[in-house]
Amino acid sequence: MTADKVLGDAIRAVQRDMEATGLPGRLGFAVPDWDDLGYLRVEYQGQYSGSGLRGEEKHEPVTALVLIADLAQEVIAEQEWRTWPTCPEHSLGLHPKRVDQAALWMCEGAGGHPVAAIGELA
Ligand SMILES: [Zn+2]
Repeated sequence: MTADKVLGDAIRAVQRDMEATGLPGRLGFAVPDWDDLGYLRVEYQGQYSGSGLRGEEKHEPVTALVLIADLAQEVIAEQEWRTWPTCPEHSLGLHPKRVDQAALWMCEGAGGHPVAAIGELA
């Protein structure tokens, strides 16, 4: 099972954010050998996300971006023991969130504010 274009675009967007913020390594999709259900999981340096998704299902692009960013955050936290990404202003961990038709990295500092679109972190 492979990721379709929507999922591929989403993972490339999160990869861009990793590169922009100096986080090394590649993010990808993989089906672990032990997963009999064949779910696609987000993989980072040998860590797989706890939940997966069905590669053959249609995914809406904004929803996919938020989901993949969330799963990437989880595997990066497990692998690196750090919160990624963080707000440059408040040093708080950012949360992927859908706001209207955009997928954004949100900070909870200063009453909550968007930092960047997912895929466009500086
Ligand atoms: Zn902030």
